[in-house]
Amino acid sequence: MAYFDNNSTTRPLLEVLQAVQIASEISWANPSSPHRQGIRVRALMEKAREEIAQSLAVEPKTLTFTSGATESNNAILSSLAKDGSEPGKSILVSAIEHPSILETAHHCYGGNVRLIPVNSDGVLEMEDFKKLMDLELPGLVSLMAVHNETGVLQPWQEVADFCKDRGVWFHCDATQWMGKLDHCGFHSCSSFSFSAHKFGGPKGVGVLVSSEPVSWIKGGGQEAEKRGGTENFPGIEGMRVAWKHQCISSSDYGKLEDWRNNFEQSLFTQIPGLKVIGHKALRLWNTSLLCLPDFENVQWVSKLDKLGFSVSTGSACSTAREHPSTLAGAIGLSKAEGRRLVRVSSYSDTTEQDWLNLANAFVEALLELESERQNAGVITL
Ligand code: PMP
Repeated sequence: MAYFDNNSTTRPLLEVLQAVQIASEISWANPSSPHRQGIRVRALMEKAREEIAQSLAVEPKTLTFTSGATESNNAILSSLAKDGSEPGKSILVSAIEHPSILETAHHCYGGNVRLIPVNSDGVLEMEDFKKLMDLELPGLVSLMAVHNETGVLQPWQEVADFCKDRGVWFHCDATQWMGKLDHCGFHSCSSFSFSAHKFGGPKGVGVLVSSEPVSWIKGGGQEAEKRGGTENFPGIEGMRVAWKHQCISSSDYGKLEDWRNNFEQSLFTQIPGLKVIGHKALRLWNTSLLCLPDFENVQWVSKLDKLGFSVSTGSACSTAREHPSTLAGAIGLSKAEGRRLVRVSSYSDTTEQDWLNLANAFVEALLELESERQNAGVITL
């Protein structure tokens, strides 16, 4: 099978699997215990924290290990709603945030959530954002770095600077950026989050960096009283190893992007009426969100699966839900178009040949779907 669903999760690197196994076999003691075994594990855990923090240019004490971006996003929004922002102060979030931001915002801020619109390419426009900021300064602004369905880059750096100048907290969900693009600059965000499994690390482990301490899980006082619960050292060690290996050299972005662009070009010529969402915007080199001219996305996904390709219907998180993702409505697609979205996303182990094969498979899938429809229409007497 060729795997093109890397925005939902990536294959754990071999080095990561080995590191998790070794840590589970040797460094399984409780890092919060005062005996020598525990102290040794704590030292390794703090080394992981320092290594990751250093490469992000943040203080190690601002980096908390979590179970992943969902927890990190919930943690920061709910903690700030409770502790930091004045009652009634609004939160400004982009209309296309991941549900771990949007749903938490609605849950914690109720009627004080204001959505920042995006254009038809799925990009937040600074002018719209500034107008909303002028109308009323919010307690918190949240914008993702890269959109998980479109791969479109958002102006998070400009938004971070704008918020900093006005003393407004800025949270960035950096889940799709980390491991795929250079991670410098995030220290200018008040807080940011990511998950290890998006860059070859294990599942169930991630990071919240917050310039001010926030606390969200009461318990045994682990993670400097911020997040109670016995620390998942094997997972943290696996993340450290993935972090060390993940850096896809920026000199390779161009080549990887060309493979994706050639795939899209090939489909444009062979599938008339195809749209690529965010085609005109700056996009991550690995993602293509296709709006196909015919047939529902579930039909495409199942047909491509049979042909040996794992692709997704858009946001993998929303696949199990009945309502379509918020993206389609936010960029002005009709409901029918929303049901024809197919996302393909590569990673560092995807080859040029994989992309070429995928383009051929789309054409084959279309021919098969058309022929099945024709046959279904023939009434046998
Ligand atoms: N934010 C974004 C942008 C994501 O793509 C995802 C994963 N789809 C998450 C948050 C949540 O990550 P996790 O499932 O690892 O908690």
